[in-house]
Amino acid sequence: MRAGSAPQDDTMNPSPPTSAAVRIIPREQHNISRKQISSAALRVLYRLNEAGYAAYLVGGAVRDLLIGGQPKDFDVATDATPEDVRRLFRNCRLIGRRFRLAHVVFGPEIIEVATFRGNGEGSEDGAGDRHVVDGRIVRDNVWGTLEEDALRRDFTVNALYYNIADFSVRDFAGGFEDVQRRVLRLIGDPVQRYREDPVRMLRAVRLSAKLDFSIAPEARAPFADLGELLAQAPPARLFDESLKMFLAGNGLKSFRALEQSGLLGAVFPLTARALAFRGDSFRALVEAGLAGTDARVAEGKSVTPAFLFAVLLWGAVRAQAEREIARGVEANLAWQRVSHQVMSEQAKHVAIPRRFGQVMQEIWMLQPRFADRQKKRVFRLLAHPRFRGAFDFLLLRGAEGEDIAELGRWWTHAQQAPHDVLADELSVVAADVPVQSTATSKRRRRRRRPKAPAAAAAE
Ligand code: ATP
Ligand code: MG
Repeated sequence: MRAGSAPQDDTMNPSPPTSAAVRIIPREQHNISRKQISSAALRVLYRLNEAGYAAYLVGGAVRDLLIGGQPKDFDVATDATPEDVRRLFRNCRLIGRRFRLAHVVFGPEIIEVATFRGNGEGSEDGAGDRHVVDGRIVRDNVWGTLEEDALRRDFTVNALYYNIADFSVRDFAGGFEDVQRRVLRLIGDPVQRYREDPVRMLRAVRLSAKLDFSIAPEARAPFADLGELLAQAPPARLFDESLKMFLAGNGLKSFRALEQSGLLGAVFPLTARALAFRGDSFRALVEAGLAGTDARVAEGKSVTPAFLFAVLLWGAVRAQAEREIARGVEANLAWQRVSHQVMSEQAKHVAIPRRFGQVMQEIWMLQPRFADRQKKRVFRLLAHPRFRGAFDFLLLRGAEGEDIAELGRWWTHAQQAPHDVLADELSVVAADVPVQSTATSKRRRRRRRPKAPAAAAAE
């Protein structure tokens, strides 16, 4: 499929365009200064330019600088091929299959250098290729002109180019004005652009939350019909996009925007369902989890997707485990089974790397153990390698009710109390250990025996 065809209708943004008038915004009419561009990015831009290539800063960085923000990374677009770029920079590696790119590495900073991409027609050197399956672009390596490169980007505000040769900004799609109006507008026909790549719907939601931009009505309208296409999007990409939504400092805003957009159910169906059924206490938990993550990001602390995904899926895990237990399934077994099921179900939509999946399941399976104050068990749980994450999770669950909040307070105390003081306290408590946990311990001992009688499970 080509990126461009005749306009289908008379919407404001007839599309998809193959050519557009370029607007050049000279240096004195915009606020981007070289002082705000990282020295690594400047070096790449200058070196390319001195070697006779076109060299532009592009994408999110230009957009962010125009609104006075601090870009998180700097991307460069050029007419040099990845091989040309590698010849120019010793600190360069070529990456990617779907999009072949050059990475120029300066210590911790990586400058991504992409060759202008075209729409698949008239590729002179035949060096590139584009593969489209069911209207979706699965590989895109057709080199093109600056203009073609601009028109295949997603939003007008992401298609602005800062030219290192004269410090002007080039605008082929009306993005400069859209930045001033703070609106996200797709380049071309929204339906076609979403069909090509459904993840663009999530990008619209994420960027609107991050930038405080509105989504143009014609860019929002197709969500209702096309949202389900996200179910077929590659789970690995949805994982990356989820990280950008929830772990980049704007998690709570992104989540609310996602829910409001009606797309939550297409990406996190179990979360959407649990919010509908479990109502306010689960919502409070999710919002507290996201707010806590945002606060950690703001303080420069580390955050893990495992914890947040554990939060997002907890409503489903808890409801299903309770159902299994009510049906007579032994508690530990129920938690284990359900943790695994919920993980696998979610992973059909959003890939969850194994190392995170493991941590999530541990966090869930440790939750019921907080209710058990038998001395030996308390000390064993305190020493568990996943105690910290599970305890933080328990504190968040305080939103579920006073009894859980009380448990959270008790375990806070348990960690602070000196070992012997806690041991004494627990010896007293041991006298009235909850009946249920005694029963569980008996059962567990029996199950450990080789060839335990089947009747034991039925007790
Ligand atoms: P952020 O600041 O969050 O990184 P960004 O716009 O820079 O936002 P990136 O994922 O870094 O997002 O993408 C860089 C640029 O690549 C975008 O600005 C856009 O021009 C283009 N782009 C990214 N994803 C797509 C897509 N799915 N379809 C078309 N163009 C895209
Ligand atoms: Mg970016």
